[in-house]
Amino acid sequence: MKLHEFQAKRIFSRYGVPIPQGEVATTAAQAREIAQHLGCPVVIKAQVLVGGRGKAGGVKLARSADEAEVLADQILGMNIKGLQVKRVLVDKAADIAQEIYLGMVIDRNRRRVAMMASSEGGVDIEEVAATKPEAIKTVLIDPFLGLKSYQAIGIASQIGIPQDQIRQFTKIAFGLYQAFVASDAELAEINPLVVTGSGDLLALDGKMVLDDNALFRHPDLEEMRDQDEESPAETEARLNGLSYVSLDGEIGCMVNGAGLAMATMDIVKHFGGSPANFLDIGGGAKADKVAAALRIILHDPKVKAVLFNIFGGITRCDEVARGILAALDEVQADVPMVARLVGTNEEEGRAILAEADMITAKTLAEAAQKAVAAAREEI
Ligand code: GDP
Ligand code: MN
Repeated sequence: MKLHEFQAKRIFSRYGVPIPQGEVATTAAQAREIAQHLGCPVVIKAQVLVGGRGKAGGVKLARSADEAEVLADQILGMNIKGLQVKRVLVDKAADIAQEIYLGMVIDRNRRRVAMMASSEGGVDIEEVAATKPEAIKTVLIDPFLGLKSYQAIGIASQIGIPQDQIRQFTKIAFGLYQAFVASDAELAEINPLVVTGSGDLLALDGKMVLDDNALFRHPDLEEMRDQDEESPAETEARLNGLSYVSLDGEIGCMVNGAGLAMATMDIVKHFGGSPANFLDIGGGAKADKVAAALRIILHDPKVKAVLFNIFGGITRCDEVARGILAALDEVQADVPMVARLVGTNEEEGRAILAEADMITAKTLAEAAQKAVAAAREEI
């Protein structure tokens, strides 16, 4: 789950990372009031869950409260990379002498949190990573020992932080690491971490991605979720307890079990097709869950055929079949469907599906070939 800049910075600040004073506004009039209250100049920053807002015109400097209102009015409602701006952060502007990058991610191969820093922070860190990787310094943090002072000091001197600012830098590095660990983050990033004209360090931008599998431990963080982050299909899937990932292909897949879903996608590819999604309805799925899953699949305009691959263990094939019929009552389906149901109550399941106009198959290979052919309108 991604957090907005203002949310990430508030978390960082709880762990001692200095951030600019600022508040969030949803209207231009509010932005004006905040600017008046903070004192100008201020920066007006679009709060959308994508990077590169600066380049897209979503970060602007206002010298007066009047200008803050005008700029907030321009930025609110703006479309940045497909996301509509609904909120702006109004921050007291900083006087920037240097822009640094400081970030942490989980390096899965090394089984460590990797802390990265660069003297070339600012908007183009991806560019730095591509063209000048040696400008990005990395240390790996042992999860049992945590971040050690020598590591923080070491990376500070590698990126040329002057002696006077090393203490401030290491305090920020420790704060960011604590915020990262305490929130079960996958990524925590400050870009830019600026050195101001008066020599202070300040986190101007913040980004955090949290591990969805750990969110149950953080109800307070879960509440910060922005529904706009997900597509409507992904939201519906999550609310129905379905694991759904939208893909580029044309064959909608409904499968019970993640491994079986992967195998189904592989075999669709093997026979020359391309899956439109990964969808695991889980074990023991009841009719309503199946119906929700089918609604989600059929809502995708790319889908030219649907493949059901159900292994009835705990899941009962007749329940699944009933779910498919219930969904077909609700949603208009004008694409061919191929069903392969085996296991518990498969006979009953097939009998129920016989009522629907459905292509059936006995093996997964046969089902996949039929789905590929159906998507090409060959059957
Ligand atoms: P991003 O483009 O989405 O990463 O948004 P950032 O928050 O990183 O802002 C982009 C750029 O705007 C920064 O790298 C700064 O150069 C500039 N910027 C942001 N806040 C301030 C500020 O308070 N003062 C000044 N002078 N520039 C700022
Ligand atoms: Mn940034």
